[in-house]
Amino acid sequence: MTGSEIRQQFLDFFASKGHVIVPSAPIVLKNDPTLKFTNAGMNQFKDYFLGNKKAPHHRVADTQKCLRVSGKHNDLEEVGVDTYHHTMFEMLGNWSFGDYFKKEAIEWSWELLTEVYKIPKDQLYVTVFQGDAAENLEKDQEAYDLWKQFVPEERILLGNKKDNFWEMGETGPCGPCTEIHVDCRTPAERAAGDGARLVNADHPQVIEIWNNVFMQFNRLKDKSLEPLPAKHVDTGMGLERLVRVLQGKQSNYDTDLFMDTIHATEKLTGQTYGGSDSRKDVAFRVLADHIRAISFAIADGQLPASNEAGYVIRRILRRAVRYYFSFLEVRKPLLHELVPGLAKQFAHVFPELEKQVDFVKKVIFEEENNFLRTLGQGLERVEAAVADLNGSKVISGQVAFELSDTYGFPLDLTQLIAQEKGLTVDEKGFEAALKIQKDRSRAATALDVDDWVVLDEKAGVKFIGYTHLSADTKITKYRKI
Ligand code: ATP
Ligand code: MG
Ligand code: MG
Ligand code: MG
Repeated sequence: MTGSEIRQQFLDFFASKGHVIVPSAPIVLKNDPTLKFTNAGMNQFKDYFLGNKKAPHHRVADTQKCLRVSGKHNDLEEVGVDTYHHTMFEMLGNWSFGDYFKKEAIEWSWELLTEVYKIPKDQLYVTVFQGDAAENLEKDQEAYDLWKQFVPEERILLGNKKDNFWEMGETGPCGPCTEIHVDCRTPAERAAGDGARLVNADHPQVIEIWNNVFMQFNRLKDKSLEPLPAKHVDTGMGLERLVRVLQGKQSNYDTDLFMDTIHATEKLTGQTYGGSDSRKDVAFRVLADHIRAISFAIADGQLPASNEAGYVIRRILRRAVRYYFSFLEVRKPLLHELVPGLAKQFAHVFPELEKQVDFVKKVIFEEENNFLRTLGQGLERVEAAVADLNGSKVISGQVAFELSDTYGFPLDLTQLIAQEKGLTVDEKGFEAALKIQKDRSRAATALDVDDWVVLDEKAGVKFIGYTHLSADTKITKYRKI
């Protein structure tokens, strides 16, 4: 079954249960001061839950374009390194606005997963809220008993408030949630008992696919809870994870949702995915992921820019450039070439990209070109530093620091270039220079974000380079592989 067919089956299933299928909201939110990007299917229905608007239908389902790179949900650092967190992903969801509640939601999710999608029952785990005495919250016994009809008790795990109780904010609708996890370990891994407590944090092949939230309380200002007059259901299932399970893959990237882009990248770079260099593979995955986030954000009206939401998109784009520059040895704009394939792939579900394909391609090309030029200037600085070495085989920590600070070269990039020239970099010296700078710049006026420090261009200053903190983080990440 293809990813498209799997998406359609979800929608058809809920249509057959009386749901109206609605379009995805844009990935960019223009009029919500609390959120820059859609990060869950429920965002567009917030006013129904808050009682500000009346829902036109009691039962709704859709696939929602989501982006999790800022705010409460920021998965960026996992992307490409693990196999199931994306920047942009599709969240399949079904909703009840004051209509059905736990019984139908649980029974239908089980029916869909085991009878329509035919996931073996013994590979499914569920989690249920265990209660929280300090907060005066009870265990969700109702959900527990409903699951007991289908799932043996050793696979019903109790979870804490953090994982199994959802709140919209300090006040407002809230309630327990129940998650469904799939055990995708190989039979050998399963036989070896690998993965002590089987939820996604413990084993990379046991992943959460679906969350069902039951909004049944209203949290008041004094922190107390009152029952909601109308109870709601809000669910979200990651399409890419579901497709990975159904296509029997060990990674979301091995599904047809990503492989077309990965193959296109192979053609453009002359390199192969799945070889012996794990850093190259991370780069392939980062590109296949990031191009989706960038393209759909631009198509929905968020251009890359130097502040706010636009900066989030610019940062994702530059992260992708850095990966192809560092690990696929690509020196000219590449990402924009992936846009037409993506637009074609999604034409039937999110036609907004295909309609603007030339525009999106052009915006990305310009951005890549500009950033590559900065990288190019940094490279000239490396050449000059190498010419000054006087026979030494080590690039000093101070030079590596300057490259990072001024040209946005993270240490790993300088190391990569040094390696090509048979040189090494004085890492200790780099750390020392970094520490001095960090101590000195605590009171700096820079806006400190994950990958880069950017100053306000209007104030007459411009992009100056990566932040060291995150350069640190990334270096650690690469070492781990
Ligand atoms: P995880 O614990 O894996 O980070 P989550 O608990 O943060 O997931 P929810 O907020 O419950 O996720 O979202 C509902 C569903 O959306 C998840 O069960 C998962 O299938 C999917 N999902 C969440 N974050 C991502 C992501 N970054 N990439 C792909 N799918 C995701
Ligand atoms: Mg998460
Ligand atoms: Mg989770
Ligand atoms: Mg969850």
